[in-house]
Amino acid sequence: MRTYKEVLEDGIHLLDAAAIEEAGLDAWLLLEYAADINRAWYYAHMDEILDKKTESRYLEMCAKRAQHIPLQHITGRAYFMGYEFCVDERVLVPRQDTEVLVETALTHLKDSRSPKVLDMCTGSGCILLSILKNLKQGTGVGIDISEQALEVARRNAKRLGLEAATTFVLSDLFEKAQGPYDMIVSNPPYIETEEIAQLMPEVRDHEPRLALDGMSDGLYYYRSIVSQCRDYLKEDGALLFEIGAG
Ligand code: GLN
Repeated sequence: MRTYKEVLEDGIHLLDAAAIEEAGLDAWLLLEYAADINRAWYYAHMDEILDKKTESRYLEMCAKRAQHIPLQHITGRAYFMGYEFCVDERVLVPRQDTEVLVETALTHLKDSRSPKVLDMCTGSGCILLSILKNLKQGTGVGIDISEQALEVARRNAKRLGLEAATTFVLSDLFEKAQGPYDMIVSNPPYIETEEIAQLMPEVRDHEPRLALDGMSDGLYYYRSIVSQCRDYLKEDGALLFEIGAG
C-alpha cells in the first residue's frame, strides 16, 4: 500500500535511471493521466493511498516511457492550439513550434469568406483542424501518403466536430489534389536522411520515418510543393510552410 507521493517518486526514479531528459515532468504527466488527477488535487491528497490497479497501470506506463516511447504515444493524446488530438505511432506528434504556422494562416485568412484550405502532409491533421476550428466558415482537405495517418486525422476531425468541413485524401503530394485553394499549408518531412540517426530515440525510433525524412538535403518536399502549387492555388492564394532550423 503506497501513497501517491511514493508512487510518483518511483516513477521519477524509473525515468531518471533511463536518462529521460525531463524525468520529473514526464513522471508527473503520466501520473496525472493514469490517476486522472491534477496538480491541485495532488498537493491536497499526496499522502493518501493510491489504489493498486492504478499504481500498476502507472508503473507500466513509466516502463514504456523508460524505453523512450514518446509520452504522447503512451497517453494517446497531444495538445496543439489548445485542442486535444489523438496521436500514436502512425503520426508525428504535433509540435508547439507549428502553432506559429497556424497563427500565421489565421492572420492571412481573417477576411476571407469560406476559404478552402489544403494541408499537404497532414499527419494527425493538427494544422488543418486547428485552422478550421478558428474560422467561422471554411473547408479543408488534408493530404497524406499514409493511409494510417489519415485514419488518425479523420478520427481527430470527428472528435473536434469538423467531419463535415474536412476531407482526408490519400495522395502522393498533388497527385489526387483538386484545387483551387485559397491557401496551402504544409509542415512537410524536412530532416535530412543522414541526420535521422542523430535524432533523439523518441523521434528516431518511434515516430514514423515517412513523417521525418526530407531526403538527402531535407528539401525534397519544399521543391515538389513549390513547383506544383500554382496549379492548385487561386489567383491570390497563399502557400505557407514550416521549415527546419537549418
Ligand atoms: N502536419 C503534421 C504536423 O505538423 C504532420 C507533419 C509531418 O508528418 N511531417 O504535425
